[in-house]
Amino acid sequence: MIMEMWFTEWFGIWGWLIALAIGLAINVPLFIWVRLRRHLTIWACFIAAFFGIAYWMINPIFYLALFTFFISSNLLTKYRKKDKQSIQDKFEKGGERDTSQVLANGLGGLIFSLAHLLVFIFTDNVILSNAFIYAAIAAVATVTADTWGTEIGILSNDQPYWILNLKKKVERGTSGGISPKGTVAAFIGAIIVAVLMLLIEIFWKNPIPVSTSWQVYLFIPIAGIAGFIGALIDSLLGATIQGFFKCQVCSKGTEKRIHCKEPTKIIRGQEWFRNDHVNFLSSFLAGLIAFGLGCFGFLF
Ligand SMILES: [Zn+2]
Repeated sequence: MIMEMWFTEWFGIWGWLIALAIGLAINVPLFIWVRLRRHLTIWACFIAAFFGIAYWMINPIFYLALFTFFISSNLLTKYRKKDKQSIQDKFEKGGERDTSQVLANGLGGLIFSLAHLLVFIFTDNVILSNAFIYAAIAAVATVTADTWGTEIGILSNDQPYWILNLKKKVERGTSGGISPKGTVAAFIGAIIVAVLMLLIEIFWKNPIPVSTSWQVYLFIPIAGIAGFIGALIDSLLGATIQGFFKCQVCSKGTEKRIHCKEPTKIIRGQEWFRNDHVNFLSSFLAGLIAFGLGCFGFLF
């Protein structure tokens, strides 16, 4: 082991135990509350709590990114909930978020933060180790941007534009539809995650390990922009490979397999490729973009 973990540096040899205790002390009450408020199903709560503690143990700044995503999504989901009800009908899922939704939103960031951890522990390659940090930030920024974009976008009274042909309009709530409001919200969501990371980096003495140069200040905002690109990729995938169906009874377009109590008919995309796959894949791709850009640190 070449580098020390943050908790060993902070609390000494038993640091991992103290860090784990703090992680549990924050997350257990949080997820009991989340469960009581019916934000997540029981199993989704366990997985989300596991993600929370894993992100926390790897580096508290990843936890903070995830926390920002989680809190802001919950607030935005509740924001003007009544106005969204008619459109919710189009989405595959509503109400309590389930395990696959939690996996879709948290897994990309976890993969990249684990990759960062392995590089950090077993090598002294700062560029690579940091590039994975940017990737993890971009992955969380993507799911944040996507949630912000969706929750604000569906409140827009205007019909959204079809991402594959901006001259064409589609029904509100259609996957692959984008609106000016939703796009701006997605951008803000992604940038807020990056700005928070940047502020911590500046004021909390480099929690990003061994990164003392200005590169970090450049690449964290780039990771935020990669997150916004990730949200656009999300819409592109939503317009192409994601399965979209039509109700045989009321003729409405929907992500649901069953509508008006009857099976729906596929009208585009792959039947098995669902919104959760789209979310995971777009966050993963945004992470790869940020990782690739972060590797340009070699050039400086
Ligand atoms: Zn129907």
